[in-house]
Amino acid sequence: MLTEEPPQKIRKLNSSIETPNLVKLEVIPILDPKLKCSEIPTTSFQAIQLENKRVIGQIIGRLKELPEEFQHLKRVGKDGSVLISENKNDSEQIVLDLGNPVVQLKNLKTILVPAIKPLTRRQFDFAKQVWPTGFHPNHEIERILDGSWLTESLKVYIIKWSQYAIDLKNGCISVQNDVLLSSGSPSTHPLGHAVMEMVGNLPKRTGSDYLGTGADVFLVNEPCAMCSMALVHFRIKRLFYVRSSKNGILKDDGWQLHLEPSINHHYEVYKVNLPENEDDVCDNGSVNTTCFCTNFK
Ligand SMILES: [Zn+2]
Repeated sequence: MLTEEPPQKIRKLNSSIETPNLVKLEVIPILDPKLKCSEIPTTSFQAIQLENKRVIGQIIGRLKELPEEFQHLKRVGKDGSVLISENKNDSEQIVLDLGNPVVQLKNLKTILVPAIKPLTRRQFDFAKQVWPTGFHPNHEIERILDGSWLTESLKVYIIKWSQYAIDLKNGCISVQNDVLLSSGSPSTHPLGHAVMEMVGNLPKRTGSDYLGTGADVFLVNEPCAMCSMALVHFRIKRLFYVRSSKNGILKDDGWQLHLEPSINHHYEVYKVNLPENEDDVCDNGSVNTTCFCTNFK
């Protein structure tokens, strides 16, 4: 159902891609803002400064564990002070209950601690300046943040399959293990967006496996709500799109479906800036005059 000519800009892109310039390729991860922050919030906490350092171990053994939300905090600070409780009155009671003459109320002090667990190494570097903090790095996230995830072979892969989607005229393809799984381009059906066509063209499979588990999807236009949700059901791993679209819901300027906590599957989203591609915001497929996507919310 390919009735339209590709826009001029896309045609220009086609010719430049024959000799892909890997240096010029930009692939921008669309990340949760929580991961992009280098600092995390702090909150006040009560700690006790112990003059006799030998008492520390003894005291810790008698204190209850910190509540779940503060499990990222180490109990003892660099200066040997020990975390007691978030609340001042509770802390005083806890100190009195210890009944240890060395541990006195006058040694209670208010300090700052990281209010949440650091999610990235950068946040950890910030947090540990505030108070000793535990951290379990997510290596995949670290590679995305420092850019090392985008290897030369991955660049070749992204250019190859993005080009394939472009050649389908605003198309959508799914790829598993570098093999084409399914493809689609916009149809005349009111809901015939490229993603829906791609899903409809999937080879039929029996069993309860999610067909797209681990698949990469390449799209020319940023998907609408309906299509983005279809890809959640499809259980894809990564989505790459070339152009932002007016009814797209993955870019940074508002509610982003792939970052919605209540959704039961999350895929990674990347904006692909191919060499010589100008980032113009498109109308997501001119086939549909009434937009399903805006009614969806
Ligand atoms: Zn759509």
